[in-house]
Amino acid sequence: MLLDNRKANMKFEDLRKANSERQKEWPGDDQADVAFRTIEVAGEFGEVAEAIKKFLRAERGIKGSTATLEDIADEMADSIIALDLLAGQLGVDLGAAVARKFNKTSEKYGLTTRL
Ligand SMILES: [Mg+2]
Repeated sequence: MLLDNRKANMKFEDLRKANSERQKEWPGDDQADVAFRTIEVAGEFGEVAEAIKKFLRAERGIKGSTATLEDIADEMADSIIALDLLAGQLGVDLGAAVARKFNKTSEKYGLTTRL
């Protein structure tokens, strides 16, 4: 199954801006502190694992509810959106952090690929 990859050129700064705008209209957002956001991130990554389990169930013919690749992609997206909300509260530039850590790992293992 091919996924719709429109907006594949989205930047972390685009997500941060949209997340910030949307949270202004999200009822109860003022109650979502760092602890809440941390639990939210863990929950969303757990939903990725659950979707993959259900996807494997479908592939292997195991009885129970199933999920598609699109379901997995949706949960991955929720995870990144939630992670950006947490990063925003902590003042972390997620794009810069990913690039820095990617390059640090490349350097550690003597690989030439850099962001
Ligand atoms: Mg989710």
